[in-house]
Amino acid sequence: MACLRERDLLLEQAGHLLRPLPVLLPIYRSGLRKLWKLRVAMRLYDAIGVDSLGQTHRVLGRRQTQDLAPELPAEGLEGAGLLHDHLFPMPERLVFENLLSAQEHGARCLNYHEVLGVRAGADGLDIEVRDVLGGRVLGCRASMVVNATGPWADRTLSRFVPGLPARVLPTKGVHVAVSGSRNYALFSERTGDGQLRFSVPLAGFTLVGATSSPWEADPATATPEPRDVDALLDGALHLRTGPGDTVALWAYAGVRPLAGQPAAGGRTLLDPHHVLYRDGNGGRFLTLAGGKLTTYRRTAEEIVDEVCLGLGVSTESRTDRTPLYGGGTGDRTVFRESLCECTERIPNLPRRIVEHLVELYGRKCCRVLDLALANPGWEEPVAPGYRDFRAQIVYAVRTEHARRLDDVILRRLSTALSADRGTAAARPVAEAMGAELGWDASRVREEVERFHDLVAREILHGRPGGGP
Ligand SMILES: Cc1cc2nc3c(=O)[nH]c(=O)nc-3n(C[C@H](O)[C@H](O)[C@H](O)COP(=O)(O)OP(=O)(O)OC[C@H]3O[C@@H](n4cnc5c(N)ncnc54)[C@H](O)[C@@H]3O)c2cc1C
Repeated sequence: MACLRERDLLLEQAGHLLRPLPVLLPIYRSGLRKLWKLRVAMRLYDAIGVDSLGQTHRVLGRRQTQDLAPELPAEGLEGAGLLHDHLFPMPERLVFENLLSAQEHGARCLNYHEVLGVRAGADGLDIEVRDVLGGRVLGCRASMVVNATGPWADRTLSRFVPGLPARVLPTKGVHVAVSGSRNYALFSERTGDGQLRFSVPLAGFTLVGATSSPWEADPATATPEPRDVDALLDGALHLRTGPGDTVALWAYAGVRPLAGQPAAGGRTLLDPHHVLYRDGNGGRFLTLAGGKLTTYRRTAEEIVDEVCLGLGVSTESRTDRTPLYGGGTGDRTVFRESLCECTERIPNLPRRIVEHLVELYGRKCCRVLDLALANPGWEEPVAPGYRDFRAQIVYAVRTEHARRLDDVILRRLSTALSADRGTAAARPVAEAMGAELGWDASRVREEVERFHDLVAREILHGRPGGGP
């Protein structure tokens, strides 16, 4: 229920980042899951959930399932569950919506700044911060500190109080992008052990995920290993993405900061996937263990309430009714169509550019459009065949704190959501960034080489996708 409420709030506040997506759960005679159980579960879900979007969930018969998903094998197919959900094609953009929104409300945000240490002083906490790119070390003072460094949370806490038992269970997760795309997401049982695999259509591919394995090293060093990729590609329906052979394109790894059972001094938050710890004299250093994107707003609200209590400030959270930075577009389709209508007479501005900008930037898309219209050539693609264009690179540097090439290609633009992970765009993007940031030729070369090294660990060189 909490997830549904947060999803509805996000649709209001940043609906441009979400795509409606039907989700199918096919049931096979030989599988572990049974159609009658699914029917009961769906009825219960509708009875208690009453999805606010008014789309009830259905159990489809065999024929209806085949009509919707002709690529699924027919043998043994009994039917499928059909649910309606939403997908974040680029969750990274949600991070920037929040960050830029915080800035609009007075926050100061510093990218590439690492907390080196925190010391309790007479009237607050003294924090030492290093500018990772520039090398400068800065000091600042705070009354309270919130440590929301995800899978790094224990490492960060140890810079304040060393030697405490671990509070986060870092868990590596890998996704693989395979060729072909459907118009629905699929939950499917892996042959053999019945483990569920999830696959979603994304930018003309299918993203299959995710593995789950404990991770002890620095989260920044997590990479997809061949065994992770095998686990996702072996024996399952999710690889049936179309009539041809499925090919694995690339894989990426991330580390989830799972909370586990609350240790001493921890308090489980309203979303039970999160635990909040208070350390230091007077509990002025707060550490969040856990992290689910779907309920991030409510978790943040609870933590800020706790900080307000600690500071003796009385104020009410407004994040449930404040649109995010590019949010507040109202109905996304109406917004997009009116913008397309207003801009249709502008030369060199094809409709696909306007649509793409609305999807990525919502209400703020006009800022990128202004850059494109004022600078000849900036409406050109970042490199042939990519959907993003040059004005977006400049916007990422000037507005979205991008400082390195991988910031732009992997985390600001959609360039990496392509078969080559954005490799062919690396040089032109680095040159455009260099023009903004004053990079010389050797810095451009260094960024391009570093980017190629990063994605070389992810590219799967057309490895066959296997199959059921
Ligand atoms: C494979 C995978 C699948 C997932 N699927 C889902 C899903 O389906 N649904 C869902 O809700 N969630 C999902 N998640 C979880 C969700 O993406 C994470 O919980 C979320 O990204 C964690 O956010 P965070 O801000 O807490 O941590 P992070 O996003 O990891 O951010 C932590 C930040 O802290 C910074 N940092 C670290 N140390 C320091 C320091 N000393 N000083 C300054 N900064 C520091 C890091 O550089 C980083 O930017 C998934 C995660 C993974 C890895």
